[in-house]
Amino acid sequence: MKKDRVLIFDTTLRDGEQCPGASLNHREKMEIARQLARLKVDIIEAGFPIASPGDFRSVRQIAKTIKGPRIAGLARCLNKDIERCAEAVEPAGKKARIHVFLATSKIHRQFKLKKDKAQILKQAVASVSYARKFCDDVEFSPEDASRTELNFLAEVTRAVIDAGAVTVNIPDTVGYAVPSQFGTLIADLFENVPNIDHAVINVHCHNDLGLAVANSLAAIQNGARGVECTINGLGERAGNCALEEIVMAIRTREDMFHLSTGIRTRELHKASRLVSRLTGMTVQRNKAIVGANAFAHEAGIHQDGILKKRSTYEIMRPEDIGIDGSQLVLGKHSGRHAIMDRLSKMGFKMKPHELECAYKRFVELADKKKNVYDDDLATIARDEMEEVDAVYVLDYLHVSTGTKTVPTATVRLKKGNEVIQDAACGDGPVDAALKTIDRITGIQGKLLEYNIQAVTIGKDAQGEVSIRAAFGTEEINGKAASTDVVQASAIAYLSCVNRFLALHSVKRDMKRSKKKTSKK
Ligand SMILES: [Zn+2]
Repeated sequence: MKKDRVLIFDTTLRDGEQCPGASLNHREKMEIARQLARLKVDIIEAGFPIASPGDFRSVRQIAKTIKGPRIAGLARCLNKDIERCAEAVEPAGKKARIHVFLATSKIHRQFKLKKDKAQILKQAVASVSYARKFCDDVEFSPEDASRTELNFLAEVTRAVIDAGAVTVNIPDTVGYAVPSQFGTLIADLFENVPNIDHAVINVHCHNDLGLAVANSLAAIQNGARGVECTINGLGERAGNCALEEIVMAIRTREDMFHLSTGIRTRELHKASRLVSRLTGMTVQRNKAIVGANAFAHEAGIHQDGILKKRSTYEIMRPEDIGIDGSQLVLGKHSGRHAIMDRLSKMGFKMKPHELECAYKRFVELADKKKNVYDDDLATIARDEMEEVDAVYVLDYLHVSTGTKTVPTATVRLKKGNEVIQDAACGDGPVDAALKTIDRITGIQGKLLEYNIQAVTIGKDAQGEVSIRAAFGTEEINGKAASTDVVQASAIAYLSCVNRFLALHSVKRDMKRSKKKTSKK
């Protein structure tokens, strides 16, 4: 590997997806993985195979079909985890990676693992050696490295490299580090680990103090050559190092870093939109690089400067991250072929019957609003990727509401061939509609989050509703878009109900098959 190249290790599908409310279904994960490949990330961490059958399936499918990047799976330092991970990444062949982790800090040793240094060291080495039996590319992470005693961290790093780890990742798991200190930590490791040249040093910084990108930059200035990051900085708590920010910082300030990445930056904007859309985690307007305002120059004096010479106030060009300014606008008269072509250019891979459904929905939408934009099409495509077989389908909705009216909703749902109708009032039309749905299904959901956003510009824009609802202890997300926001709310909520029912039928099946096996 060239010394001036920084490897980009994307963990949107593993660490990012762990973020509450961001869970993705299989097809959504595949869609993101394809975009990551177009972006040319070096490594995709596709999931944590032992965590669930769904995780395993996605990692294996990504390893099988995504060409270009290395495909990593995460495993604890346990043989059963490593075996499951090896099986999941195996289809990637030479591009497969097993990533094992074990906490090394005093606080984790004492309170979480209840093990001493010698036991930790032994387990780390044993797991790396075991993983190497399946795969040449093994990465080791000493979890909570930034709070681990330097001499022990150096000892572990040396030992796992000797055992065959080709990448050692130094995580700031709790987001506690500050740049000067984190940079020094990396420099100290280079000084104190004699065999460090035999491995790539990665860093994995969390953003609890808003320092994830700054810490990662300090690390690469001191010898780290891999950065673990996520699109839009998605992740637990305050998230991870944002991929788009670290990549554009390295590129824009090449004069400082003298380093480069292999990222095709023109795919950054698209990647950001896709992840935000599929996870329902919206990007703040003033977010660096990919926020809606990142390239908007409002102040008159700036606009004047920009018109005379762009670089007076602009350090990056919007086209560098793939904002081309011209959105293709589609309308009523756009043909089937134009829609299908546009969807595939936007990166959606759909089956023929789904394309047909998407086209029908496009025609309906174009009937209601004059201009249909890319983002409208994307919401349609996303709906078509819903994996759950719906138990309840919205058949009819009527609400009456106003300043002097009691908001009332009449809802008719289809359940197979059965049609069920009911009505209820509420403190507003959305409340009334959702209450009616509860009455019909007999399932009481509690709304934890409700967000509504215009998909595009214009008063006639579609409203996209994202809902997080609790059914007992289960928390479920649902999304829907429509030009009628009450209807979008009802469909989004129904999608939560359907996902909840699907989850329960899976659990029932699992219990049944367990009973069967235990009888044998
Ligand atoms: Zn993490």
